[in-house]
Amino acid sequence: MQRTIILASRNRGKIGEFASLLAPLNVEVRSLLDLPEAPDLVEDGDTFFANARIKAKTICQVTGLPTLADDSGLVVHYLGGAPGVHSARFALPEQGDAANNAKLLHLLEGVPEYKRQAHFTAVLAWARPQAETCYAVGRCFGFITTEPRGSNGFGYDPLFFIPELGKTMAEIDTATKNQISHRAKAIKHMLLLLQSVYGSY
Ligand code: IMP
Repeated sequence: MQRTIILASRNRGKIGEFASLLAPLNVEVRSLLDLPEAPDLVEDGDTFFANARIKAKTICQVTGLPTLADDSGLVVHYLGGAPGVHSARFALPEQGDAANNAKLLHLLEGVPEYKRQAHFTAVLAWARPQAETCYAVGRCFGFITTEPRGSNGFGYDPLFFIPELGKTMAEIDTATKNQISHRAKAIKHMLLLLQSVYGSY
């Protein structure tokens, strides 16, 4: 059986996180960094599921290999789910984490703490040639702070407060984040499915 899985990502942080969590499968994990000729992925779906599926199926079709893709983002309840699938590009035309975070804080100005609930969502899609695409989901719940705290991580981490830890996602170390994050939870669920196909060592 083919023991290579492609990760449809060029993000080194995610690739490292996936590689360590998939280690029990003893499969070769390659990413788009190993496939410079791979097409750019257009994330124009309305849902995390749709975007994860687009990425996984596109790369599976190009490579003929089983492909894992994720789509993730921040869901703020008071904002009716925004930024959601637009998390990476929330502040357009400005770009980048700082602009996204500033826009989020602005939209929540004056909103009391108990209304600042949010969660990160990650959806993984696993596409294989001539097989149905499978999915796994992970969520991590918290609150949006009124100012950034911490310098680890990326994206909205400095604004995402986790009550159980009494810290923002940017104040915890990578090992802890890899235990509790939305992506880690989704990968652990997906692992159950992958183990049924590849076995574990
Ligand atoms: P994508 O899944 O790479 O499309 O990520 C979408 C966006 O969601 C990122 O650019 C971040 O803004 C946000 N995001 C996803 N996961 C995290 C996380 O673990 N911490 C902070 N922000 C995240």
